[in-house]
Amino acid sequence: MSIGTSFLLIILASVVLAMALAVVSYRRTNVLHTWAGALVAHAGAYILFALRGQISDVLSIVLANTLLAITFSLFVLGVARFQECRLSPLRLWWPVAVVPLLFTLLLPYSTARIVSGAVVFGAQTAQAGLMLWQRRKQTPGRGQYILMTGFFLVIFVFGLRAVSTLTGYVTISSILDNNPVQYVSFLIVVVGLMLLSMGLVLMVYERLETAMLESQALLQQQNQALAQYAIDLQQANQQLETLSITDGLTGLFNRRHFDHLLTIEWARAARQGSAFSVLMMDVDCFKSFNDHYGHQTGDVCLVQVAQVLQGFSRRAGDVAARYGGEEFVLLLASSTQPTAAEDMADTLRQAVQALHIPHASSPWGCVTISVGVASVVAGPHLSADAVLKLADDALYAAKAAGRNRVCSAPTLTASPHGPAIAH
Ligand code: GH3
Ligand code: MG
Ligand code: MG
Repeated sequence: MSIGTSFLLIILASVVLAMALAVVSYRRTNVLHTWAGALVAHAGAYILFALRGQISDVLSIVLANTLLAITFSLFVLGVARFQECRLSPLRLWWPVAVVPLLFTLLLPYSTARIVSGAVVFGAQTAQAGLMLWQRRKQTPGRGQYILMTGFFLVIFVFGLRAVSTLTGYVTISSILDNNPVQYVSFLIVVVGLMLLSMGLVLMVYERLETAMLESQALLQQQNQALAQYAIDLQQANQQLETLSITDGLTGLFNRRHFDHLLTIEWARAARQGSAFSVLMMDVDCFKSFNDHYGHQTGDVCLVQVAQVLQGFSRRAGDVAARYGGEEFVLLLASSTQPTAAEDMADTLRQAVQALHIPHASSPWGCVTISVGVASVVAGPHLSADAVLKLADDALYAAKAAGRNRVCSAPTLTASPHGPAIAH
């Protein structure tokens, strides 16, 4: 192996890696771009080194080493950009100013050039390596350690060359000299180039991967929150719907929902021509109950009556509701026959009386209800409102007849001119 082959390898590796990084980073991450620039400068330096003796020393020594200084400054800049830390231009570019002067002065002294080059370039490499080391915990992945190894090898090469020449182990009068230190140096440079390029690419990849995983996790969290929000919203809507159809005190359906269900159940019964009964009930002498026991006790009483009523709404289509104040209504849309509805009304009345809620000013000594029953065969000759009115009238009749009783509306018969009452 000759030094010329090593140089060719270094130049080719630098150019190929620079091109690869430049293509990948085109209009993308400026970190890889910076690295591509460093590798181009590196290739330039070695082209000039390789031409030692064929071009002037100013080009092959001063310019070549200045290009090396630019290479290492760009490495420092690349790491700084990756770490998102700002460096002053002086801290970054001082070697690019110092190296041309120093190497012009030291043109005749090869050992002094090797040692001062080792100090300057070693310092630059150490600066980049140190920046990596200090922020290693914040940097995701292991690509950084490959990069650090690359920087370490660079420092090792410069150290090896400086120590070897200072101790007199070898004499390097020209960069093209053949000796073991030269071979080892340039082989390590090739390996270093690979480590530095691969390490940086892996670091960039690992950062993107970490960011992607983080955003995926965030997205998952947001999706979960959204799903929970949808469940909460559904529950809130259900609660709202329940509230909007329920009477706040008794928990029965409210008047508005009753009216809605009445229309639906009536339409169904009218289609089928089935029996349709409405029981309208009112707590007897409730004003005096309130006056005597207080409004709050009155409320408790209404809740108890409502519970009894709810127990009578057993079949599909049955609707128990608070019609308003101390008035309740039970709709029996199932095919309940008129007599059965009347019987049920009386059982209901007895059940309320059986609660034995004390009522001082009632002739029965306890809370009672009066019930009006309207039972019809549903059909187009009638309307739900008409049936409701019949039940209300029957209730009025029950009140007029002395309260705590059931009154039934007269039976209706179908007539082409509207409802007719058969007494
Ligand atoms: P009747 O036997 O003729 O029905 O006599 P009544 O006293 O029950 O009838 P009236 O309509 O004169 O009085 C109804 C009372 O019901 C008046 C009102 O204070 C009471 N009331 C209405 N809504 C509520 C309520 O939500 N809570 C309570 N505690 N009382 C109510
Ligand atoms: Mg009333
Ligand atoms: Mg009343």
